[in-house]
Parts: sequence; C-alpha cells; structure tokens
Amino acid sequence: MTSLQQNYREVCAKILEAEAAAHRENGSVHLVAVSKTFPADDIREVYAAGARDFGENYIQEWYGKTEELADLPDIVWHMIGDVQSNKTRFVAERAHWVHTVSRLKTARRLSEQRPSEMPPLQVCIEVNIAGEPGKHGVAPEEAVALACETAKLPRLQVRGFMCVAEADAGAEALHNQFTRMKQLLADLNAAGVAADVLSMGMSADMEAAIACGATHVRVGSAIFGKRDYSDK
Ligand SMILES: *Cc1c(COP(=O)(O)O)cnc(C)c1O
Repeated sequence: MTSLQQNYREVCAKILEAEAAAHRENGSVHLVAVSKTFPADDIREVYAAGARDFGENYIQEWYGKTEELADLPDIVWHMIGDVQSNKTRFVAERAHWVHTVSRLKTARRLSEQRPSEMPPLQVCIEVNIAGEPGKHGVAPEEAVALACETAKLPRLQVRGFMCVAEADAGAEALHNQFTRMKQLLADLNAAGVAADVLSMGMSADMEAAIACGATHVRVGSAIFGKRDYSDK
C-alpha cells in the first residue's frame, strides 16, 4: 500500500468512528477526496484504494485531470471551488456535483448548459455560515430562498447546503455554525424541497461536522498531504 492509500484508509476509519460516536448509521457520511493541486497519478492511487468521489477547485486544472483520467468511467467529480460565470460550461458538461452555487445567475447558466442526455447536475448552495467578509457563499438568511429558486431550474437537482466553517473557530463556534447549517436544511425541507445533503467538514473539522449531521465531508490534506501553491 502506498502512503496516500494508507492516508485514505485512515480517513475512512476516522469517518466510521465519528459516525459511531454520533450514533449515526455506518456509511451515512460520504467522503469527497479533495485533490486540488495534486496530479492525476495521485488520484489514480487513491482511486485504486477505493475512492470514487473527488473534489476540485480550479476549473482549468481540473479539466486537464478529467482528460488524463478519462479511462476511469465511474469517477465522480465534485466542483468545490468558485465557479465564475464564464466557466460554467466546463462544469455543466463534466461535473457530477457542484457544491458552490451562491448566485442564481450561475445556477441558471449551469442549468441551460447541462447537456440533456446527462442526469441533472447535483448542486449545493454555498453558505457563508459565519458571515465572514470576503468569503464566498450566500448569507444564511438568504440561503433557503436561493435554494428554492434554484430548485425550479430544470437541469439542476438541489441536494442541500455546503459551507467552509470559520478557520480557527473554537469548538463551540464550530458547533454553532454546523448546527445552523442543519437547521437551514430542515427549513428548506419545510419549504417543500426534498434536499438531503450537508457538505461540511474538512481535514481539521470533519469529526465536529459529522457530529452535527454532515453527509459529505471534503477532505484534502489528510489524504494527499500539504498543498504547494507556489506555481499557482
Ligand atoms: C481545499 C478545500 C477542502 C479540503 O481542505 P483540507 O483542509 O485540505 O481537508 C475542502 N473544501 C473546500 C471548499 C476546499 O477548498
């Protein structure tokens, strides 16, 4: 086993432990392996250990990897970075999921550009859960309304909400942020949208997120190692 495969196994084991600690069903939390900045060969290694869901942030970089990995037909691509409206076409044509919809304009373009022979694009609305200035995502107060509007678009399926919790938040603040996300999903269900996803929790805070109801954790460095942004 390679070290990446070892890391992947350890993260899977931690997820199982966190599910058990929260009295949640085994396998109720999905792992999205965040491979941004890492080469296609690293993805192949982790794929060989059993991972199928991979998260990418930068459209150009990701597009190249989809070409290199075209021989892995069951790989599931999650776009978790900001999608500028001039780059929606790549995402509409190649992604399975987008976790980062925070404007109706972007949602409309994704719906218009989603090829009719593909299944609907699975989307989450990104929420700036702690109201941090300069951070992506819709304000918590506007999240349910945006999700309801997005749910009307024909080629998208709204699955729920996504957030990046405040960095360096203490345990209590983190708990409050994740709990508020769970409440937003309940509010969306009450508004008549049958969404079921909370995409929250990363390498540093996945246990806390799972305790609060995360269904998808997005884990990068704990699997692939420290990222090097020097050529970005
Ligand atoms: C990079 C990234 C992650 C993974 O972060 P790690 O701390 O490396 O696990 C998760 N979500 C988003 C939106 C990211 O940009």
